[in-house]
Amino acid sequence: MLANLVGEKWQRPSGCKTLPVFDPATGEIIEEVPLSGEREVDDAVRAAKQAYVRWSASSVTERVELMFRFKALLEAHREELAAIITRHHGKTLEEARGEVRRGIEVVDFACGAPTLLQGRTLRAVTGSVDQDYYRYPLGVVAGITPFNFPVMIPLWMFPLAVVAGNTFVLKPSERTPLGAVRLAELFLEAGFPNGVLNVVQGAGDAVEALLRHPDVRAISFVGSEPVARHVYQEAARNLKRVQAAGGAKNHIFVMPDADLSLAVPAILNSAFGNAGERCLAGSVVVAVGGAGKDLLDRLESDARKLKVGPGDQPGVDMGPLIREEHRRRVISHIERGIREGAQAILDGRNDDYLKRPGFFLGPTILNGVSPEMAAAREEIFGPVLSVSYASSLAEAIEQANRVAFGNMATIFTTSGRSAREFRDKVEAGMVGINVGVAQPFAFYPFSGWKGSFYGDLHIHGTDGVEFYTRKKVVVSRW
Ligand code: NAD
Repeated sequence: MLANLVGEKWQRPSGCKTLPVFDPATGEIIEEVPLSGEREVDDAVRAAKQAYVRWSASSVTERVELMFRFKALLEAHREELAAIITRHHGKTLEEARGEVRRGIEVVDFACGAPTLLQGRTLRAVTGSVDQDYYRYPLGVVAGITPFNFPVMIPLWMFPLAVVAGNTFVLKPSERTPLGAVRLAELFLEAGFPNGVLNVVQGAGDAVEALLRHPDVRAISFVGSEPVARHVYQEAARNLKRVQAAGGAKNHIFVMPDADLSLAVPAILNSAFGNAGERCLAGSVVVAVGGAGKDLLDRLESDARKLKVGPGDQPGVDMGPLIREEHRRRVISHIERGIREGAQAILDGRNDDYLKRPGFFLGPTILNGVSPEMAAAREEIFGPVLSVSYASSLAEAIEQANRVAFGNMATIFTTSGRSAREFRDKVEAGMVGINVGVAQPFAFYPFSGWKGSFYGDLHIHGTDGVEFYTRKKVVVSRW
């Protein structure tokens, strides 16, 4: 059974229920994760609170030096981290390597703390009065993460929080808890003091205990929309600072002037990369004007060639889904799409996949999805691409803007004018132009809109610095 990291000790909680952790490529149980509750959360928060006294008084240069060491260890263990991700998440090793890379980027960004944590000064505001502001940490901060990026998403949070002088309690996904364990081991190996990072394994009960705990000052959350909404409301009710990233339904527009040799592979990667279990997955392709026929043929024939299999095998393009229940949920979305009138021009519910051990499902393309259908509105979070049609860019934007989410939208076009109109009118916080996945680099905010994000300050970038610090303004007269 996995242990929690409380201060300097890895502790196995006693008397907790456990859940199995699977290798999704074989369906075998590889670990047991404890479902920590109030007591375990309280232990971790206490350890973090105790460590805060000295850590918040440490110098920025000391914190940055440790962060550089952590970065070097992450680089040295990149392959090992990627293998851990693939083993319990299922994505391909190539995708896992990309995940580790994007996570390390946030550590790189955090190493810029001497600049990022600066305040501001205005001399002689009036008479002999000067004004300054300084940035201070908040205290104990908690991070709650989803299953789909077990290394990258924890790294979105704790490096920036701790470099700003906070201490941290991480509650990883109970379905993919192993990435956080290795990250925490490397963090301690880098020399960070005990209690600066603590890890509590568990699920809903641990989350509720963090939301209630009076010594937790802020919550960073990434997960599905209903839980993001709940976390946002509860954390705010308990007077905590909160950023809560939720689900998505991302539209990809293809204009008649698009270069399909660029668009088709990018769309397939967006829709089927990470087996569609990605909050930046392209989920609905909207063919605008005359873009339809050729686009559909090419999407279908190239998607048919995707090799589905265990993520650690060479040549595999798409790994399994996370769990059997999730595979069933995705299949029920496909069935509903067909019932509502879409045609499955490629159907992933194929015995080749369903009868293998593990939780495999092939890529599916649903054609003729209209904006009213569930397949155009609801998050599926699996390898299902809907194709819909619009006569003009304005109509396509209107279709995308109807959905409750606003994480990402992208356009493929060779017209600057169309790209500009799209950028300005589409209601999504991350916009791509001729790219399939518009993931911001660590130094920009991960900025979903509408039901894809609740809060004000987004995750990472300078928003992250603002989120994990509070300002003290000094007015002085001499
Ligand atoms: P999830 O909401 O089921 O779980 C996320 C976290 O919340 C986990 O740590 C889990 O233990 C906890 N949790 C789950 N149910 C809870 C409950 N009822 N009460 C309290 N806590 C609970 O999400 P998931 O299935 O792990 O991840 C997939 C979802 O995350 C998708 O909807 C995806 O779009 C979203 N996601 C969003 C982003 C983003 O940046 N917007 C990034 C990655 C994933």
